[in-house]
Amino acid sequence: MRILIGGCQQEISTFNPVPCEYDFFDFLRGDEIRATHEGTDSQIGGAISELKSSFGDDLELIFTYDAEGTAAGPLRHSAFMRIAEEFLGPLKEYAGKIDGVYFSMHGAMGTTELLDPEGYLLEEARKILGDDVPIVITMDLHGILTAKMLENINGLASFHTYPHVDFGDTGRRAAKILTRILRDGVKPVVARVRVPAIVRGNELITAKGAFGDQIRYAKKIHDNPEVLSAGFFICNPFTDVPELSSQAYVFTDGNQALAEQHALQMANDFWPNRHIMQGKFLSLEESVVKGALMTGPIAFTDAADAPSSGSSGDSNAIISEMIRANYPHSILAPIVDPAAAAKAHELGVGATFTMGIGGAHDPQFIPLKLDWTVESLTDGIMKCETWKYEPKIGPTAVLRSGNLTLVVTTETVMLVDRALFFKVGLDPKNFHSTIVKSPHTEPAFFDDWVEANFNVDAPGATSANLKTLGHTVCARPIYPLEVDTEFTPKTEVFSRA
Ligand SMILES: [Zn+2]
Repeated sequence: MRILIGGCQQEISTFNPVPCEYDFFDFLRGDEIRATHEGTDSQIGGAISELKSSFGDDLELIFTYDAEGTAAGPLRHSAFMRIAEEFLGPLKEYAGKIDGVYFSMHGAMGTTELLDPEGYLLEEARKILGDDVPIVITMDLHGILTAKMLENINGLASFHTYPHVDFGDTGRRAAKILTRILRDGVKPVVARVRVPAIVRGNELITAKGAFGDQIRYAKKIHDNPEVLSAGFFICNPFTDVPELSSQAYVFTDGNQALAEQHALQMANDFWPNRHIMQGKFLSLEESVVKGALMTGPIAFTDAADAPSSGSSGDSNAIISEMIRANYPHSILAPIVDPAAAAKAHELGVGATFTMGIGGAHDPQFIPLKLDWTVESLTDGIMKCETWKYEPKIGPTAVLRSGNLTLVVTTETVMLVDRALFFKVGLDPKNFHSTIVKSPHTEPAFFDDWVEANFNVDAPGATSANLKTLGHTVCARPIYPLEVDTEFTPKTEVFSRA
């Protein structure tokens, strides 16, 4: 059995004005993919272990190319075309010489010109590899599954958890489909039902929120050997593309009616909950007024500027409101501002300067002009508290102005925990109020010890207040952009058999 493995993953926010560049990605080529992923809990790691246990000594794995970018603004089209060439090029050598293919994908990519990059990659890969070879993929449940993708694949597995913890398991589920196609000769048919709703908020947490019902349903029907794969996409609401929607999908072994029945059931169960699957907010002004009266500590969650969702990280909306309102407590906040970080590095620790900070990338934020003292300087990488994510933060400075302490980075990096604060020697527990630029963090990082965590309705490219984002591309009507959207359940069926 010769199985080819590759990947291309990113999710973007259409509303981040900064195009993402080629250098933002990490690339693995050939056996670097095996060296990086084998034995780990990644999707590719899970797929390798499942394929090995299925085929044993009869297995030869061929690794081609894997491009991984974290969330950002739309990928510059020329950068994507370069990645596409590097992804597709190595496939040519294997046309007609392999038994199966697994690609690790995300599903919420977008370039400055192309709105279904994954569909493009799969369509081109299919042209190169031919009609007969089975291609299976993994996707994030925030992906936007498109008709073009479904026309070109034989199977798919998506995450069953949010926050995501089932990376390896998802890879194993995809590899199982491939095994069943190759060993048992199953003939996958898939039904999907698109639901005209985009969603956000705590009810999407699969362990305790309403959306967990769809996932439990999808997992339960896997008990039937006729069901090859099932899942539910809540999509990334910030990726404004034509097929943006929530959707249920079920792959069965040739049983179209069964696939349709289960996909319809999941979609119909999901639809009535669309109202509660929305962000619940405190207004900017109200959160600052409330926080001022509390003992603390308090987390001010600024999901609208979460780099992990694709924002630029340069919002000063909450701190500006705090300064305007003479907030009486100590404040700790992260912000991306390359010019301010450079200025601090030029002047040195202890220096003071006056400068507007914020809005370095997103012009909707007006720089906050204050007198700053350089408290400390650093550079290099930060190490996440739990994830294996070690991004370069670039020249970074801790600046203080009165009760406000800013951690100013050059690079936009994901802030899924407290790693950036620890990197510069600061502990949020020593501050009354901390700005958290992530929609959800593990409870231990903040929720377990703060007096309150305010979900602030601040402006930004990844605001959970979805109506404010300004979608122009996705099919309308869609809830909640049109509150009275109606849902007429309809199945779409695809099969390569
Ligand atoms: Zn996701």
